[in-house]
Amino acid sequence: MFTFAQSTTYLHCGRILDGVGGQQTNRTIVVEDGKIVRVADGFLGAAAGAKTVDLKQATVMPGFIDLHVHVESELNPKAYMERFTMDPSFVALRATSYMRKTIEAGFTTVRDLGGSGVNISLRDAINAGYVVGPRIFTAEKAIATTGGHADPSNGRNKELSFDAGPEAGVINSADEAWKAVRTRYKNGADCIKITATGGVLSVAKDGQGAQFRDDELEAIVAAAKEYGMHTAAHAHGIGGMQRAIRAGITTIEHGTLMDEETADLMIAYGTYWVPTLSAGSYVAEKAKTPGFFPPIIVPKAISIGSQQKEIFTKMYKKGVKIAFGTDSGVSPHGDNAKEFGYLVDCGVTPMDAITSATSTAAMILDQGEALGQLKAGFTADIVAVMGNPLEDIHLLEKVGFVMKDGKVVKR
Ligand SMILES: [Zn+2]
Repeated sequence: MFTFAQSTTYLHCGRILDGVGGQQTNRTIVVEDGKIVRVADGFLGAAAGAKTVDLKQATVMPGFIDLHVHVESELNPKAYMERFTMDPSFVALRATSYMRKTIEAGFTTVRDLGGSGVNISLRDAINAGYVVGPRIFTAEKAIATTGGHADPSNGRNKELSFDAGPEAGVINSADEAWKAVRTRYKNGADCIKITATGGVLSVAKDGQGAQFRDDELEAIVAAAKEYGMHTAAHAHGIGGMQRAIRAGITTIEHGTLMDEETADLMIAYGTYWVPTLSAGSYVAEKAKTPGFFPPIIVPKAISIGSQQKEIFTKMYKKGVKIAFGTDSGVSPHGDNAKEFGYLVDCGVTPMDAITSATSTAAMILDQGEALGQLKAGFTADIVAVMGNPLEDIHLLEKVGFVMKDGKVVKR
């Protein structure tokens, strides 16, 4: 892992899905020093000293990108208590196992949408080669309003509660919005996440209402732009969605209760929808286990799963642009590829589902010229599955080969 000698690998690929909707057969991808240098017709003989990998029976694709994960945690009945009992060092060490599962599932890049700051260190440790895992782009701590979804003092008794401010990601004015974004920038965030509405899983009455004023949202988007960061808004209800879209947010996360009017607004503003169908399915499933969730959450969780898919199917057909994201950390890390199946169940073609997790996701991360395509000049993040996922999308849940930055992680 700490050697930097020049290395060349020839990948003999039976089928290639290039990440932008194209499909070719019998190609050789030549990888050198972490980059794709050539995609050639037929199976080229390797130059002296170069390695060859036989993927002639496989379908080869760009490494997948999941735009919505939480690297620090995984949902379990004790999750709420963990923040009081678990040391950050333990959170970090545990997260390394989540990241191993994620990259072995074929996800070579993830966008982390909110944690405690361990996410920043984990990103840096992976980039430095100390930990095996996907390339992480992180929002560090999500930005909320007082009492909103992601106010870290929520649900505590009066002795333990506190008035969280912009440094802890809680704002109540446009000025505080600027400070919260600047604090994320100072702490090393790559992007900004806000919680535009309440949350299904928060221990709170309301999961849907809008939680930011227009001037606060506009300030967040303006500040983020100034520091070269894009923005993502968690949103279930339409009020919060519409305000966030009008403020110029880059992606709407979940978008659970989207209606026709909001879908039209998404289309008009070119906003991307990251539907996270995995989260809805998993939460609805787990709500059937007694004691998994506090009673206040159970009815919210049960109704959300079926509704989410129905609504997504309808609004996707209208033409809303989508990008791939699972909310892993709610659903288990390493199950990310199940989302492909859920998307196809809802009427997305297998090719479009794959594009949503490759070139489209890369573009949202401002990596459109580096990640998400099998093309000369792009980073050698490459995955392969046996068979043809265009005929059986569930094959993507069994990724057999993973390369990141030109290095083989799984074979
Ligand atoms: Zn999330």
